[in-house]
Amino acid sequence: MAEVTLRNVSKVFDGGKPAVKNVNIDILDKEFVVLVGPSGCGKSTTLRMIAGLEEITEGDIFIDGKKVNDISPKDRDIAMVFQNYALYPHMTVFENMAFGLKLRKFPKQEIKTRVTDAAKILGLEEFLNRKPKALSGGQRQRVALGRAIVRKPKVFLFDEPLSNLDAKLRVQMRTEISKLHHSLEATMIYVTHDQTEAMTMGDKIVILKDGVVNQIDSPLQLYNFPSNKFVAGFIGSPSMNFIEGKILSEKGINFKSNKGSLMLKLSSEYEKKLSGYLNKDIWLGIRPEDIYDSATTQIRPTFNQIEVNLEVVEPMGNEIFLYFPLDNIQFTARIPAREKPDQGTRRQLFFDTGKLHFFDPQSEIAL
Ligand code: ATP
Repeated sequence: MAEVTLRNVSKVFDGGKPAVKNVNIDILDKEFVVLVGPSGCGKSTTLRMIAGLEEITEGDIFIDGKKVNDISPKDRDIAMVFQNYALYPHMTVFENMAFGLKLRKFPKQEIKTRVTDAAKILGLEEFLNRKPKALSGGQRQRVALGRAIVRKPKVFLFDEPLSNLDAKLRVQMRTEISKLHHSLEATMIYVTHDQTEAMTMGDKIVILKDGVVNQIDSPLQLYNFPSNKFVAGFIGSPSMNFIEGKILSEKGINFKSNKGSLMLKLSSEYEKKLSGYLNKDIWLGIRPEDIYDSATTQIRPTFNQIEVNLEVVEPMGNEIFLYFPLDNIQFTARIPAREKPDQGTRRQLFFDTGKLHFFDPQSEIAL
């Protein structure tokens, strides 16, 4: 059992502005929770407060219901894996993995069993006698993972552990950590700035911005029901398209962008939802995959046809990204890779008005 609870946790570094503001997170036993957000949003500081490496300015942190504010890191029963591996260069892989257990005066045989078991899980058996400099980046990161696993901690904390690896290895290690989570049945808290990592690994994702929690939800909930414009733009790649305009009522309900390049007829279901925004400013958002190419699409009643100028066409192999301007804002559509449209040509696209997102212009909260 290992639940981690943050209650009204804040952190102010000496004389500075708050790095973490009034954060509340409930992490359940065996859950994989990802803290994600742009650089400087307070992810690492939050993780370091859970680890006990950073003092809490205000609020409380509980591990399994026990308040740990004043408990030293080594007594919190947690293990942390860092971006830079932090391996001892003069020790072999075995010695690096065994080091923490030796310090805690575990019997020799127990250390051997735990290290060999972890090496087996991580595919490191043949490297146990090597020094870190004779390992690849991915292998070093595995040793850092092994060092955490042998401790059998209640909670694993990861601080951007894959940032130093190349893109292919990152994807591979990502799946290995997910498998590890499954087989160890441990509570894991994982910090990253990479929304793909967050979406693919997390049972639950905490989105931070400027030290404030913006939304806590499952990956699909975040994707389909972002609570505000920031979350909507942060989750998803390529990002959601945004354009400002007004809601008008002429033969039903319509959206018209400020410079008039985008006019959408909205279905009656929006009438109630947007009734307070008639003739008022509003942000519209639509994901690139909700804009379709007329050549590859069966028309549905919710579709609005728009003619656009394809400024850039990017074939990705399995799909194609189309870039085109509306009101001088660059929009992106992702379409299936059947036939590649020519760059610089005009194209009919459909906006799926069943998939629109709207945001208040001031608060940027989703409507
Ligand atoms: P990154 O992805 O760049 O690592 P992060 O989301 O992990 O960013 P933190 O490292 O938690 O962000 O930092 C949050 C804020 O606190 C930043 O504005 C940072 O400059 C500040 N900060 C972090 N550590 C300290 C420190 N030791 N002293 C003063 N300010 C700090």
